[in-house]
Amino acid sequence: LLIFFLGEQKKSTEIIDVLNAQLPKTIKSETELSDNEFEDTHKKIPKTTPRTEILKHRNNIREILLHSNATPIRKYGGIGYTCCFCKQQYTKPADLKKHTLDIHKDVNKANFMINMNMSEYVVKLDITGLKCNICNDCFVTLEDFIRHLRFLHNKQWHDDIQPHIFPVKFDSELFHCVFCPNSFSKFRMLVRHLHKHFRNYICEICDSGFVNRNALTQHTVNHKTGAFKCNFCPKVYSTQVKKRLHERTSHTHVEANKCAYCNETFKDYRKKEVHLSEEHGIEAATAVCKACDKVFSNRKMLNIHIKRDHLLERAHNCPECDKKFYSTTGLKNHMVTHSKARDYQCKLCLKFYGRKKTLNAHMRVHEEKKLQCEQCPMTFVQKWTLKSHMRTKHGEVVCQSSTD
Ligand SMILES: [Zn+2]
Ligand SMILES: [Zn+2]
Ligand SMILES: [Zn+2]
Ligand SMILES: [Zn+2]
Ligand SMILES: [Zn+2]
Ligand SMILES: [Zn+2]
Ligand SMILES: [Zn+2]
Ligand SMILES: [Zn+2]
Repeated sequence: LLIFFLGEQKKSTEIIDVLNAQLPKTIKSETELSDNEFEDTHKKIPKTTPRTEILKHRNNIREILLHSNATPIRKYGGIGYTCCFCKQQYTKPADLKKHTLDIHKDVNKANFMINMNMSEYVVKLDITGLKCNICNDCFVTLEDFIRHLRFLHNKQWHDDIQPHIFPVKFDSELFHCVFCPNSFSKFRMLVRHLHKHFRNYICEICDSGFVNRNALTQHTVNHKTGAFKCNFCPKVYSTQVKKRLHERTSHTHVEANKCAYCNETFKDYRKKEVHLSEEHGIEAATAVCKACDKVFSNRKMLNIHIKRDHLLERAHNCPECDKKFYSTTGLKNHMVTHSKARDYQCKLCLKFYGRKKTLNAHMRVHEEKKLQCEQCPMTFVQKWTLKSHMRTKHGEVVCQSSTD
């Protein structure tokens, strides 16, 4: 834990150096303030990240809210989704979006995270049907839109801070992750999953990533071993996670093992599946994890998930740094960070990547973008955005052609 905090301290110093060098004068007083705050706590462990970092985050989220139809979600719970700017709750995310866009037009309210500490800071952002307010262009990913804001509309953007935004889309019954093919039956579980795609804070024991420090701290409790007794029966488990998994599957979520057609109950999921198939002729198309409501295409995938994500099994040790991994592929992916081998090259822009997965993710940048600016590396989806770009960036006069 000490090593972790020392790393944190070093990072804070670096951020201040960067700020002193780059921030405009107007923000300078803030910088000095946080610098002093930092000095005061320097001998102790710094509990707060410099205020300037949160100012950068606030600037970034304000640019998004000001120039798009993206809307933040304060939290999910109670009857549903709560507005970031007032106490209104909605059962449907689309209603919250409409409310936010209709009622809260004053984007200075992007200061909604004003009392938030960096250690708990994350913005859940609804990007369903993401659209630029300036030019009405539509975007599939938040990343694309941010690039668009920065390079086409020349908006100020801080990219020297770690990402703290969870983009979410509500476009089907299930909750799909925008970064990977996983889907969930509960919004809460999608949010818990999204941490995996952020490596701002990393668990030293199981290599799981988290968006902020609070989430990592909450997670490390899972690794504590001891005697954890089931609240419903005499069974005892070695970790909190194993205990909770048992409680959910054997006691609190037994409803899930009830047949919806004849109300017969079953000891486990497998028996219910057999019953459904033999008595009612229904084949289970998907398998749902009873601990986290994640949906899988088959039982095998579900079993891997339970072992890897809930029981935190880690059978493969890294010979170089003591990190542990569930699978050999996980270990192999990790080994790349040691060897710095960058074997995967993008055929389109010749960038190198260390992992096939990262290259594949990068390739999405090239999809659909067929219009290449002849004078710089920027690409565009629509003809007129390229034209507008040529005009603003390269001062070119483009005639309206009759084929448009
Ligand atoms: Zn509101
Ligand atoms: Zn635009
Ligand atoms: Zn994902
Ligand atoms: Zn862990
Ligand atoms: Zn029990
Ligand atoms: Zn699960
Ligand atoms: Zn290693
Ligand atoms: Zn490329």
